[in-house]
Amino acid sequence: MYDIATYVQAGCVADAVAALAADPSAMPIAGGTDVLIQTREGRHAGCSLVSLHGLEELRTIRMEEDGTLVIGSGCTFSEITASALLQSTVPILCWAVDQVGSPQIRNMGTIGGNVCNGVTSADSACSLMVLNAVMELQGPEGRRLAPIAQWYTGPGKTVRRHEEVLVSVRIAKADYEKFGGHYIKYGKREAMEISTLGCAVSVKLDAGKKTVDDLRIAFGVAAPTPIRCPKTEALAKGRTADAALVREIGRSVLTEINPRDSWRASRAFRLQIAKEISRRAFLQAVQFAGGDCNA
Ligand SMILES: Cc1cc2nc3c(=O)[nH]c(=O)nc-3n(C[C@H](O)[C@H](O)[C@H](O)COP(=O)(O)OP(=O)(O)OC[C@H]3O[C@@H](n4cnc5c(N)ncnc54)[C@H](O)[C@@H]3O)c2cc1C
Repeated sequence: MYDIATYVQAGCVADAVAALAADPSAMPIAGGTDVLIQTREGRHAGCSLVSLHGLEELRTIRMEEDGTLVIGSGCTFSEITASALLQSTVPILCWAVDQVGSPQIRNMGTIGGNVCNGVTSADSACSLMVLNAVMELQGPEGRRLAPIAQWYTGPGKTVRRHEEVLVSVRIAKADYEKFGGHYIKYGKREAMEISTLGCAVSVKLDAGKKTVDDLRIAFGVAAPTPIRCPKTEALAKGRTADAALVREIGRSVLTEINPRDSWRASRAFRLQIAKEISRRAFLQAVQFAGGDCNA
């Protein structure tokens, strides 16, 4: 049963912010693929919903003059994957969101909902972490920016305040230009599967395409929130992208992640998988960056 007390369709973001500010029990709903499932389960009994669905100002995908990408929070996964601009600049993100659920879920679910739910298994999260994405929020006092490194505050929790709406996800040119990236989601089946473990790797190589100039590695479901692996990233900088480095990366990530036992998989299994998928994601990312590890 859907126990919903009130439902407000916002006409614009400012409307939604005002409706949220006026009601401490209200929550935004975008595609509803999380909210409605939880409401049916009784988790938000008597809730008030403020709908962002269909707001055109949240649905644009564009590049600013300095090359910053701006992805409206209301863009669906399908729209992101189909975007020629995003395919040519951040293919890792297009690929990652194409791993979500099923075509129906990808047609309804939004990137905003995927980061605002604060869950460690969200398929966009790892890629947004390696892209140093910045969240643009609108509240009663105006807009503010929150880097993704500071976004997650605990399982299901983010720095978004109750009355704030996520307007867009921003990615600076320096965080995607000349990088090759890849995301691997491990699950027991190909579709309709929440990630057991996810890993995104983004690599920039030197001009000769042999040496690692910059490496970024992020995991989902390897800790209570999505995380980066700063020690592993640091050890790779300036090193030749070869078989020895690949092995070292696989060993090093295990010292930085802290997965748990759950009904989906044991901690030991997740550690085993982490070593392998970080290795595979690195190899693929190096190839996408124009190199070849021969490993
Ligand atoms: C069958 C099924 C399979 C799924 N498979 C996957 C999967 O494989 N991978 C995966 O990552 N997820 C999966 N999901 C979860 C879900 O589809 C995603 O998390 C999706 O991105 C949620 O987006 P939404 O627009 O539907 O969010 P909603 O359900 O509308 O909202 C989700 C949360 O975000 C908040 N919110 C939404 N938009 C905003 C905004 N602009 N500003 C502030 N707060 C906002 C809402 O208040 C709510 O707390 C699955 C869900 C279902 C039902």
